[in-house]
Amino acid sequence: MHMDRTFQGSPTPGPNATTLARAVGLTVDMPVQLGASSVRIVDGVDFAIGVGERVALVGESGSGKSVTARALMRLDRAARVSGRVEFAGRDLLALSEREMTQVRGGDIAMVFQDPMSFLDPLMTIGDQVAETLRIRGVGKADARRRALAVLDELRVDRAAERLDAYPHEFSGGMRQRVVLAMALVGEPRLLIADEPTTALDVRVQDQVLDLLDDVSARRGLAVLFITHDLGVVAGFAERVMVMYSGRIVEDGSVDSVFARPRHPYTRGLIKAVPRIDQDLDRLYAIPGAPPPPFARPTGCAFHPRCDAAFAPCLRDVPAVLPVEGGRAACHLHASQGA
Ligand code: SF4
Repeated sequence: MHMDRTFQGSPTPGPNATTLARAVGLTVDMPVQLGASSVRIVDGVDFAIGVGERVALVGESGSGKSVTARALMRLDRAARVSGRVEFAGRDLLALSEREMTQVRGGDIAMVFQDPMSFLDPLMTIGDQVAETLRIRGVGKADARRRALAVLDELRVDRAAERLDAYPHEFSGGMRQRVVLAMALVGEPRLLIADEPTTALDVRVQDQVLDLLDDVSARRGLAVLFITHDLGVVAGFAERVMVMYSGRIVEDGSVDSVFARPRHPYTRGLIKAVPRIDQDLDRLYAIPGAPPPPFARPTGCAFHPRCDAAFAPCLRDVPAVLPVEGGRAACHLHASQGA
């Protein structure tokens, strides 16, 4: 028998935040290339993001976090997305494709990991940043002026002189700022940042995170920050959601999740964050690998890797239960109380 894993009540953002975006029972099925069947990548995810809130979505590769983010923006045409996605009270899954185009690059914008694959090598930086506005009917001079303003805001060196430069003339960190500028020039209320610093070295990574921190605070911009690296989350996000095998297994304020992780998977991720004083040959890694979505184990999908697994874990999907400071989906809490 599988337990119902729906949340008690609607998902809510952090304390004192007004809900900006909300996913309820968000499920994403992807067609399998050979044959007509589909595979479930995201399985009934619930969460909310508040106005101006910074929320991290964390998990190993293949956990479904990028697919979740892309589903919010309906970016994968082949995906079958069900459940409910609300933004500022509107049901995004009910919008026409035309209306959705206005939302993308308008209220919600997204940045990806690899700026070079996103930038057009044959188009100037100024034109690429302005293009988001041009598509929305803004005049050429005004779009260029606003492109320059946002490049300045993101501290791109000598932005006015370099509006007519090409991407190859910029360093990796500066290119990531340009991609951020393309996302921010439309003045979104929610920025989805999918591993935006993974391809950068640690020093540049810190600079980009500082920038995001500043811009988010100054603009009241909500950020959904997707990463496999829990270490990146601590200084940036207010809340964290941990995803495993298509489900959110724990969420809560960054302070409470780091101080007292409730889910064995979260504990493993925290243990795997390298520390400055640690020998490189003593780095911890969670044993095993996440299951592919077409071969999820029964019960708790983490059970083959979990050193705390007991009989119900092999049989029943754990319900997501409230715990102090957040929620967790683990039978240990059902049996011991939060
Ligand atoms: Fe481990 Fe069981 Fe909790 Fe899953 S439900 S994380 S297997 S203890």
